[in-house]
Amino acid sequence: MTELRLVLGDQLSPRHSWFDAAAPDAVYVLMEVRQETDYVRHHAQKIIAIFAAMRDFARHLREQGHRVDYIAIDDPANRQSLTANLDLLIERHGATRLAWQAPDEWRLDRQLADYAASQTIPAQMVDSEHFLSARDEVAEQFAGRKQWLMESFYRRMRQQHGVLIDGSGKPVGGQWNFDADNRKPWAGDPPEPQDTRPRHDHSALWQAIKASGAGSFGAPHEQDLRWPLNRDEALAMLDSFIHHALPRFGDFQDAMSSKAAQLFHSLLSFALNVKMLHPREVIDAAASAYHGGHAPLAAVEGFIRQILGWREYVRGVYWARMPDYASVNHFGHDLPLPDWFWTGKTRMRCLGHALEQSLDRAHAHHIQRLMIIGNFALLAGIDPQALHRWYLGVYIDAFEWVELPNTLGMSQYADGGLLATKPYVSSAAYIHRMSDYCRGCRYDRKARIGKDACPFNALYWDFFERNQARLAANHRLGHTYRQLEKMTPQDRSAIRQQADYVLANIEVL
Ligand code: FAD
Ligand code: SF4
Repeated sequence: MTELRLVLGDQLSPRHSWFDAAAPDAVYVLMEVRQETDYVRHHAQKIIAIFAAMRDFARHLREQGHRVDYIAIDDPANRQSLTANLDLLIERHGATRLAWQAPDEWRLDRQLADYAASQTIPAQMVDSEHFLSARDEVAEQFAGRKQWLMESFYRRMRQQHGVLIDGSGKPVGGQWNFDADNRKPWAGDPPEPQDTRPRHDHSALWQAIKASGAGSFGAPHEQDLRWPLNRDEALAMLDSFIHHALPRFGDFQDAMSSKAAQLFHSLLSFALNVKMLHPREVIDAAASAYHGGHAPLAAVEGFIRQILGWREYVRGVYWARMPDYASVNHFGHDLPLPDWFWTGKTRMRCLGHALEQSLDRAHAHHIQRLMIIGNFALLAGIDPQALHRWYLGVYIDAFEWVELPNTLGMSQYADGGLLATKPYVSSAAYIHRMSDYCRGCRYDRKARIGKDACPFNALYWDFFERNQARLAANHRLGHTYRQLEKMTPQDRSAIRQQADYVLANIEVL
């Protein structure tokens, strides 16, 4: 008897129970396929990093004594689709059983379930043993409720998993949330921690990827790729983050700077999403830093909330709402993506910096994604599905289960407010407060009208004006609508005209 065990490119956990003991009847199969490089146009670093990490994982499994069949992108036998290759492998190994770990993406979940149903050999999906909540846990918690709230989910998760909870079941420090302490701009002090990520030369792999015909964009940096290949490298990154960045993570969580790409963020999303690291060990490392007196509670709680709260929550929303979630478009936005999303060449300094960084590093931190790129897209009325495909392609950590709810829900409010309690938008005032972008920008952050006026300003007020019927009843927007009502009809008409002018010139902003 031979069991074929499929390992997907984002299932690189050596701690999965599959690998606990020798399984002489099992053949582990991994494959680099055009199906996966092509479902959306990807950043070159994303393709290289995932394939390189898969190759390293196969090497590790062989060293542990497991049988592995690895189909490389340039293998002449490669049929370039998961299921066509499974046909090949079942035949090659005379497999009598098939097993796979639960995929995180709806598209792969369907594909493998349909494939299994068409087989004559027994086929079984097993848990990926990665998440702290089940796929349907969010849906169960909020069943029948109109308003879903991350904060309630997060508090339940803290209690259920005993994270930052004292002996009497209360949150450590007497508060669940320290967000109010975590909103400082960064002016260069303390200095940004050193980038201690590993370095790898993947020139040969990059040549093979290009020769396969897979399309891509962004800087490959194939001779000096800075993403971890395996668990050991990911653990070293975690250690470095806990010691050097976590203590200031809270203070500067929302800060942005043209002089620092990483600031005090962890850059662990790739390692987490391909499962080199388990979320629980990242949470425990952060909690230990607090209990050991190495990092303040506000920073540790803020960091843990991103992983135990947001990361698990968006996954639950994804599984509750797919497949319809992928086509939501609450505002009916349909403007195409400006070309400069692919080049970073815009004179708006904030967007130019966030886009260039994304294209160069395949990474931007949360506030750049949300309050610069996503903010502009929502205010301008860009087609949310086109934007979703861009986010899914550009970021090293982008897998649909986490990218889609963040883009369509949190950033674009395209689900009508299921994920976010109000649209995350701002004028230049917020961007100026939280960054150094506006200094040195060719646009005037204080002006609303005129050819030098910051485009965010008119677009911001125009967004609320044109969506009054949809948004005015939202109590979190009361202040904004009161301000709008105080404006004269002439002011409002000038804003409308300025917004039209900005949108007519969007390609050359
Ligand atoms: P840190 O700031 O160090 O945070 C620690 C960890 O918390 C991250 O590694 C991540 O695992 C988790 N986390 C933080 N915020 C979120 C969130 N909103 N949702 C889920 N997990 C979170 N994250 C992805 O992993 N993949 C994506 O494709 C993705 N797309 C996004 C698209 C948009 C429009 C927005 C606004 C956010 C997106 N995020 C995504 C969330 C977040 O921006 C990234 O997780 C974070 O920037 C990764 O960098 P980091 O590891 O340095 O994070
Ligand atoms: Fe961005 Fe406007 Fe500031 Fe320029 S002035 S950096 S466009 S917010």
